[in-house]
Amino acid sequence: MISEIPFNKAYLTGKEADYFNRVLYIGSLSGKEIFGGKCLDFFSNRYTFKNAHLTTSCTSALEISAILSGIKQGDEVILPSYTYVTTATAFVLRGAKIIFADSLKENPNIDVSEIEKLITPKTRAIVAVHYAGIACDMDRISALAAKYNLFVIEDAAHAIDAFYKNRPLGSLGHFGALSFHETKNITCGEGGLLILNDDRFFERAEIVLDKGTNRRAFMDGQINKYEWVDLGSSFRLSETAASFLLAQLEAINFIQQRRLVIWNRYFNELKELDPDGLVKLPVIPDYAEHNASIFYLVCNHAVTRAGLIARLSEKGIAATFHYQPLHLSPYYLSQKNERLELPNAELFGDCLVRLPLYPSLTDKDVDFIVSEVKNSIREL
Ligand SMILES: *Cc1c(COP(=O)(O)O)cnc(C)c1O
Repeated sequence: MISEIPFNKAYLTGKEADYFNRVLYIGSLSGKEIFGGKCLDFFSNRYTFKNAHLTTSCTSALEISAILSGIKQGDEVILPSYTYVTTATAFVLRGAKIIFADSLKENPNIDVSEIEKLITPKTRAIVAVHYAGIACDMDRISALAAKYNLFVIEDAAHAIDAFYKNRPLGSLGHFGALSFHETKNITCGEGGLLILNDDRFFERAEIVLDKGTNRRAFMDGQINKYEWVDLGSSFRLSETAASFLLAQLEAINFIQQRRLVIWNRYFNELKELDPDGLVKLPVIPDYAEHNASIFYLVCNHAVTRAGLIARLSEKGIAATFHYQPLHLSPYYLSQKNERLELPNAELFGDCLVRLPLYPSLTDKDVDFIVSEVKNSIREL
């Protein structure tokens, strides 16, 4: 049946079409022109990112990070199994071997206490995925990285406007990557932001983003022709997409406030519901200020989750599961990797369920969803 309450609905601020039309009027459609520049100004003003680039996706930002960190055939990269596939493919494309770590028990983020024993002389990087905009324990990850001379890449796809000890996510590793995919808090359909927090990479990043050419130096008048000088690809966000993104960024306070109201309403209404331990609520560590990217419950069993999703669906509510752990993926297993056991990643893969969450979801919708979750759990 068609859901009356969909899982996600992109929020439109009303200014997107106006800005898009201005791009058409100005007639300059490719990357880093007027709207792209305004988006970057927004990021540097609000989050004081030192250096950032709009990209075609978070995936591209991760791929650029992999190039800039010099990952090559045989290097090892440690990342959580419970994540989106491109957290891994960005490094696999460079020939890296992926070393999967388990999630914490209390939330899907990487279990930092598991990382050190996975480090070998071949390890080059740790990727921290801030699931649901809930920060990983970055001080401990950074300390390990410093001890073993590793790069830290933050997959902050979910994490715009989320913080670790008051510092914005994406600004804590060597590299950070945000996503503006339709399913994320702020969107332009498909898009991303690469954040560079180490000035050793500023110059080379321009070249990689300019398809491996020194076009930037040419545009700045430093050389009289531009040439192929390095690795690179087509990674820059277009002006058309940036115009849409700027409209969204200008509404970020409203969007975030509304999302947090909904998240808190779910949390407060559901926190008492658990006499039999069938479902657990998200655990937010003290160091994390999350951004209401996702509201999830963790069921005690895959059967409980299937029952809950089915019952909500009967009531017209689209609730959904999330990642299938990558260590169990057909591709990973086809590469002659041993079958790992990562019990927490597998638990989240089997038991995590996400409820609808977007700015146009009304309080009445939320109350209805809450009461149906409670009814379902009573009947399960
Ligand atoms: C959405 C997502 C990505 C990919 O983002 P795109 O902008 O679609 O490339 C990467 N990692 C995580 C954790 C995500 O949720």
